[in-house]
Amino acid sequence: MKNSGLRIDIVHNPVGAYLPRSQAALEHEYHERLLTEHGIHFNQIFCLTNLPIGRYLDYLIESGNYDDYLSALCHAFNSAAVANVMCLTTLSVGWDGSLYDCDFNQMLDLTVNHGAPKNIMNFDMDKLKNREIVINNHCYGCVAGCGSSCQGATTAGD
Ligand code: SF4
Repeated sequence: MKNSGLRIDIVHNPVGAYLPRSQAALEHEYHERLLTEHGIHFNQIFCLTNLPIGRYLDYLIESGNYDDYLSALCHAFNSAAVANVMCLTTLSVGWDGSLYDCDFNQMLDLTVNHGAPKNIMNFDMDKLKNREIVINNHCYGCVAGCGSSCQGATTAGD
């Protein structure tokens, strides 16, 4: 609640093979329903798009939704979201010092590449700052619709 000094943020991601709705619209709806139905106040909602990797990829393949979902991500490509992908400003570091463009690439064991140092022991700010990002089909999830990152949507959307 306002002035309580406490904070609750909610993370939302779809449970099926579709993109999340507008973060602003969902936040409005969550505020209304959580308050009227449960008396709960919260600060902010973060909408995440499911990337086709790991268990979600297994689900897509097993349910026969893989092609449709990838096609939906491609068709929802939003060039404005490209400037805000988290791999442009962050690195993920593995337990052994391996460097990854993001935690998704870490899950896929895709270390940074294209001449950038692959381990924190060889850290080189210039090379890492100017590195070419390692991308694959899963990256469409970060630039579809309103965009997606660990801090939710990356563009205002509708
Ligand atoms: S999944 Fe791809 S676009 Fe998204 S943060 Fe990782 S490297 Fe960047």
